Amino acid sequence: MNLILLGPPGAGKGTQSQELAARRGLIQLSTGEMLRAAVKAGTEIGRKAEAVMKSGGLVSDDIVIGIIADRIDQPDCAKGFILDGFPRTLAQAAALDRLLVSKTRKLDGVIEMRVDDAALVDRISGRSACAKCGAGYHDSHKRPKTAGVCDVCGSTEFTRRADDNAETVGKRLMAYYRETSPLIGYYFAKGVLHTVDGMAPIGEVTKQIEGVLKSLAAA
Ligand code: ADP
Ligand code: ADP
Ligand code: ZN
Repeated sequence: MNLILLGPPGAGKGTQSQELAARRGLIQLSTGEMLRAAVKAGTEIGRKAEAVMKSGGLVSDDIVIGIIADRIDQPDCAKGFILDGFPRTLAQAAALDRLLVSKTRKLDGVIEMRVDDAALVDRISGRSACAKCGAGYHDSHKRPKTAGVCDVCGSTEFTRRADDNAETVGKRLMAYYRETSPLIGYYFAKGVLHTVDGMAPIGEVTKQIEGVLKSLAAA
């Protein structure tokens, strides 16, 4: 099954992708994670992307389309993937359509996670992740079972993203409304859009997504 999780920064795309990956063996493809890895490794892509990411803008379509085209060709994606944070512009959505046609694969569904703008600042400013395995946490909504210890791998080191601060949130939200929100209409028109209530507690959102996936499998 090939899915897109769509929603503003902080909506819960990464959280739900990790959950789906663990439950269903689908591969999570987060362009944000891949770009952060490129910045850390100091590759050419990383050097091009770093300043834009820090300021809360969008990295160029060419770069992210290239990253995804390479990635979905790898054997681990054969069973299916969850796109988390891609596509983010209509040009990226059109490129993805062409890419999937050329590989005779299809998009099974797009899940839009709807969250009030006012909740996003709290989501983003309280976000952290395990430094070792990348599992996502939140200071008040998703704490590790044992304080300071990752539930998944037991590591005691956590990181916070350089762009997760109040100044960039406004800019990232603006980029979402200007560039990404038109994708809701794009996928609605294609008949593949499903909307879940991203304001619900994490486990409840997972249940709603599972409901959508069951309806897709039955169709
Ligand atoms: P995105 O990938 O869409 O930017 P994340 O999955 O990283 O969003 O979630 C942002 C933050 O909000 C994280 O700290 C996460 O633990 C928390 N979070 C995710 N979903 C929910 C939810 N339904 N309710 C409360 N907090 C949530
Ligand atoms: P979030 O879901 O919290 O917005 P991501 O990890 O998805 O964060 O993305 C972090 C940053 O990486 C974005 O603000 C943007 O600069 C860049 N980025 C990630 N994916 C894309 C994309 N598909 N197109 C353009 N820029 C992207
Ligand atoms: Zn961990």
